Amino acid sequence: MASQRLAGFQSGLPNQRGRFGPFGGKYVPETLMAALTELESVYRQARRDRRFLSDLKSLQQTYAGRPTPLTFAGNLSKKLGRGIRVYLKREDLLHTGAHKINNTLGQGLLTLRMKKPRVIAETGAGQHGVATATVAALLGLRCDVTMGAVDIERQRLNVFRMRTLGARVVPVTSGSRTLKDACNEAIRDWVTNVRTTHYILGSVVGPHPYPMIVRDFQSVIGREARRQVLKAAGRLPDLALACVGGGSNAIGLFHPFAGDRSVRFIGVEAAGSGLATGRHAATLVKGTVGVLHGSKSFLLQDADGQVKETHSISAGLDYPGVGPEHAWYKQSGRATYLSATDAEALEGFEFLARTEGILPALEPAHAIGCLKRIAPRLKRNSVVLLGLSGRGDKDMETVAARLKVR
Ligand SMILES: *Cc1c(COP(=O)(O)O)cnc(C)c1O
Repeated sequence: MASQRLAGFQSGLPNQRGRFGPFGGKYVPETLMAALTELESVYRQARRDRRFLSDLKSLQQTYAGRPTPLTFAGNLSKKLGRGIRVYLKREDLLHTGAHKINNTLGQGLLTLRMKKPRVIAETGAGQHGVATATVAALLGLRCDVTMGAVDIERQRLNVFRMRTLGARVVPVTSGSRTLKDACNEAIRDWVTNVRTTHYILGSVVGPHPYPMIVRDFQSVIGREARRQVLKAAGRLPDLALACVGGGSNAIGLFHPFAGDRSVRFIGVEAAGSGLATGRHAATLVKGTVGVLHGSKSFLLQDADGQVKETHSISAGLDYPGVGPEHAWYKQSGRATYLSATDAEALEGFEFLARTEGILPALEPAHAIGCLKRIAPRLKRNSVVLLGLSGRGDKDMETVAARLKVR
């Protein structure tokens, strides 16, 4: 049974119908089915096209800054003790400051292939919006980004960035006026303008084929890391650890190791003020199965199936859904999902800053905080691969206020 599961993972799920076990699928209005089918067929051709692959590789290297380094965190490792060795996969060093550009470059090239002149994207904190606006400017595409009115207020700097890059930022005033409402609005826009517009979804969520496409574009993280850690540590890691919002940086790190039995996966969600308070975004840890934004997965919902409001100190993890492949990893036991509170994330932030001179984004700071907590229970001499999905500049005001830095 276990070996079958691993074989399944190696063969590159999802199946023909876009399912990861019982999760995933295409729960969308009929008007979008043709666009999803077109996207899947264009993607399947592109994936085998040398020209597409070499264009993507060239942009990854000369524009985004790939390959990113693998950094041995020697001081931090020493603090954890017991011979544990931690390696950081440095997505924080990419152009625009996070892993999101891996996906937007890939989908930007797919848009050119589909000969569509316009892209749209949803954004919460603004990171995916900025990565999309960046690629749209580069490739000469028109770009509209939907963003909740509340988030527009909270994330002024990213709004300025997007507008400076030439994108239009469309305020969304329905619902809680945050990320999930921005997703709804982007889907509505897409239904209306599907012939001229590609929707660049920002994580491994949404209807098939998005979770597969975004995973494949993000898997460059794990492919590089696998080579680099084999060289640096002389063997595969015992543990790969990453934060999970929608789940794209974590899947990107995990996927190339999916067939390696000895590599454990831990995804870290946002426990916000604490799981018991209800103010959190720990979808896999605390959620139940349902349908959101076109696919079946875990989500945070009430007894009537209404989506709950989430909370996290980190805007990038503040989402009530999660990618269907993670739901399948959880259900099949391939990965374990834990959580870290706002306070633990801040501790992780400070820990990495003080030991290694690196300011992480608050999202991966959750993974560092979690690692600090679980390190005493890890095997001696464990090799740990930690996905450092982004840099901390965007979070400095939040961090300074909370850590009382003056
Ligand atoms: C957006 C973001 C995340 C969360 O998204 P995933 O799809 O779960 O990766 C994590 N880290 C950073 C730095 C982000 O910008």
